[in-house]
Amino acid sequence: MDFSKFVSARTSFFRASEIREILKLTEGRDVISLAGGLPDPRVFPRDELAEIAEFVIREYGDRALQYSPTPGVTPFRQVLREFLSSKGVKVGSEDSIVVTTGSQEGLFLIARVLVDPGDTVIVEEPTYLAAANVFREHGAVFEAVPVDSDGMRTDLLEEKLKKLRAEGTKVKLVYTVPTAQNPSGATMSQERRKHLIELSGTYDFLIVEDDPYSFFLFENVSFDYLKTLDREGRVIYLSTASKILAPGLRIGWVLAHKNIASVIEVSKQSVDLHSSTLSQYIMAEAIKRGVVDRTIEVARSIYREKKDVMMDALERFLSGMGTWTKPLGGFFTMVTVNANVDMKQLLQEAVEKYKVAYVPGESFYPVSKKKNTMRLNFSYPSPEEIEEGVRRLSILLREKVFGTHV
Ligand SMILES: *Cc1c(COP(=O)(O)O)cnc(C)c1O
Repeated sequence: MDFSKFVSARTSFFRASEIREILKLTEGRDVISLAGGLPDPRVFPRDELAEIAEFVIREYGDRALQYSPTPGVTPFRQVLREFLSSKGVKVGSEDSIVVTTGSQEGLFLIARVLVDPGDTVIVEEPTYLAAANVFREHGAVFEAVPVDSDGMRTDLLEEKLKKLRAEGTKVKLVYTVPTAQNPSGATMSQERRKHLIELSGTYDFLIVEDDPYSFFLFENVSFDYLKTLDREGRVIYLSTASKILAPGLRIGWVLAHKNIASVIEVSKQSVDLHSSTLSQYIMAEAIKRGVVDRTIEVARSIYREKKDVMMDALERFLSGMGTWTKPLGGFFTMVTVNANVDMKQLLQEAVEKYKVAYVPGESFYPVSKKKNTMRLNFSYPSPEEIEEGVRRLSILLREKVFGTHV
C-alpha cells in the first residue's frame, strides 16, 4: 500500500536526523563513536534522584501524579525563576516561564507560533542541527552568519541585515546558542552580545537564545545573557534540565515576554497538554536541595577533563591535517579538514573499515553546506575511547585524504 498520498504536504519539509541514522550504523559493532551527543551518565545524581522521586511521590503524590497546568507546575516555575535569577538570567516582571518537554519542544513551539512558510530565519554557521530542522519543517528560509571563536560575527550579521532590507526581505528571528555553542563550543563576546541586541531593535527582529550549556563553562568568562541585556522583550530564552540533571526527565523551559509566552502556552495545549508533572516536581526538589548545583560542578569537572583529552589527542594526531574549535563549554568540537573533501562520503568507510564514527559537518551548515568538516563529541566516550577514536580518524585522513606523506 502506498501511504504517500495520505501524507500531508508539510512533511515534504521533514528530514530524518543524520545523527540518528549514524547511530544506527554504529550499533553493536566495534566502533568508537564520536558522533553522539549524550551526557556522561556519571554526571547523573542517581542516588539523590531515587530519594527525591520517592519523596516527591509520597509527599506530593496526588498532585505530582495528576494532570497539571499547561505552562507548568506553579511551585516549579517559582523555583525556576529563582534559579535563573541566581545564575544571572534576568526574569523581568513582564516575563513568563513556560515549562516544556525538553527545550526541543520549546524550539518547536517557538517555530510553530512565529514562523510562516517563507519567513526568513537567520542561524549561525555552524548551527544546532535539531533547531535548524524545526525551523525548516515550518518552512523557514535560512540565512547564515559565521561563528568564530568569539561567537556569531555580528559585523557580518549587520551587513546581511542591510542587504536583506535593501532587497525588501524582513527577518523574523535570529537563532543563536551564544554560550558554549553547539557544535563549535564558542562563546559570544560581550561586545557582540550588545551589538546583536542593538541590531534586533534597529532591524526589528526577535532573538532566540538557546542556552543548555552556560551553567558549566570550562573557564571563567564573564558575560551577560542576551535575555539580561534585552530591554524590549525581543529575546526568547530557552534552557533545559538535560545537561545539568538528566535528559530523561524531558524538562526544559522557555522564558519570554508574557505576550509571547501566552501564545506559546496556547500552542502547547494542542501538542501535549503539559509536560510531565512528576518530572517537574522532581526537578523542583532537586534545585531546592542543591542537587542541581552540585551536578553542575560534577559536569564541569568531568567534561573539562574530557575536553582536554580531546584537545590533546587532536593536537597529537591531527596536526597539519585540520583545525578545530577550542570549546569553552558544551560537548563538542568542530574539526575542519585542510582539504577539499566530503566527510559525508567518507563516513561509511570510516565506520566499516576504520571503526570510528563522527557527524559530517554539512548539516550544521544549512546554507553553505560546508563539506570538509565534522563534529566530534567528547562528553560520552571514555578518555581512552576519545584518544583511540581520534587516532583512528587520523589514519583515515592520512590514508584516504592526504596520502601517506603527511
Ligand atoms: C542538548 C541541547 C538542547 C537540549 O535539548 P532537550 O530537548 O532539552 O534535551 C537544546 N539545544 C542545544 C543547542 C543543545 O545542544
